[in-house]
Amino acid sequence: MTSAPLIDPFARPVSYLRLSVTDRCDFRCVYCMAENMTFLPKKELLSLEELDRLCSRFIALGVRKLRITGGEPLVRRDIMTFFRAMSRHLDSGALEELTLTTNGSQLERFAGDLAACGVKRINVSLDTLDAEKFTEVTRWGRLPQVLRGLEAAQKAGMRIKLNAVALKGFNEDELFSMTQWCAAQDMDLTWIEVMPMGDLGNEDRLDQYWSLKDLRAQLESRYRVTDLAERSGGPARYLRLEETGQKIGLITPMSHNFCESCNRVRLTCTGQLYMCLGQEDMADLRKPLRDHPDSDAALEAAIRAAIQLKPKGHDFDYSRQRADGQMSRHMSHTGG
Ligand code: SAM
Ligand code: SF4
Repeated sequence: MTSAPLIDPFARPVSYLRLSVTDRCDFRCVYCMAENMTFLPKKELLSLEELDRLCSRFIALGVRKLRITGGEPLVRRDIMTFFRAMSRHLDSGALEELTLTTNGSQLERFAGDLAACGVKRINVSLDTLDAEKFTEVTRWGRLPQVLRGLEAAQKAGMRIKLNAVALKGFNEDELFSMTQWCAAQDMDLTWIEVMPMGDLGNEDRLDQYWSLKDLRAQLESRYRVTDLAERSGGPARYLRLEETGQKIGLITPMSHNFCESCNRVRLTCTGQLYMCLGQEDMADLRKPLRDHPDSDAALEAAIRAAIQLKPKGHDFDYSRQRADGQMSRHMSHTGG
């Protein structure tokens, strides 16, 4: 039975849930994690059954799209059990899309199972096609393993969108080669502006900041570029390269121009619900979940109360030449 859908105070329906199933990862990307990360004690994490209960409640409240992320979602033990459980909501028609964002390291192993669970499109994060640079940016990653994963995913019939973080002085020189490679592989490509998350360590996010305005200007120097009207309710804008017919996404989370259509919330692996990627406000859903194992009434009330806290917009701002609105939270915690 479905109750009244979730609508936030600014009349935005919440139809998209991003769930981080683990804070752990087999990579240590420089813009995301410190090399010596301390991860949450396992007992803090919600069990797969608890994650199922939470997601199912959100779906009953009108969530139509569920994206599984992390950390690296495919390193969570037994994660296919969870995907199989969620696929029942696809079968019933309650859920329109079940998808994931992954670093691709485990895709060779799981692509077939994911496709069998009804996953049709996946986002794979890949910042460079140069094996040495790949290991430099991910610290622990190996490019051939990811490339085999991509191949397995395509063979299993899933459509791939590559997500690349735009990093000044790192992958600027690969703009055209990556574009051409994706065209040849029939993959979509989206560039993400680097965000001031996590601990800065020796890497200053501002030094790494490559503006997507500049990236776009570079594309325009070589291709005829057409803006597409398509919006996803998130920070992505899309354009088409007329010569290749390719769709290129540009994600500029630092700009405010998408907040008015924001349709999403983020849930961490410990049951904290973040209403906005750029703000610290969150609600704890683990307590109502665990305190009331036999009824979802308290959980639903907590979800509804949290949605009322969804802010109008976020706090990131690079325009003053320092990373204002910077947060100590790691991207691997809220799942990006
Ligand atoms: N491990 C998976 C992966 O890498 O795809 C899923 C989680 S990861 C946190 C989700 C996305 O966040 C990735 O595409 C990653 O590149 C992006 N990301 C992480 N830190 C970022 C940062 N500081 N700025 C922009 N994007 C970031
Ligand atoms: Fe892991 Fe993804 Fe973060 Fe890289 S971006 S460290 S793959 S969670």
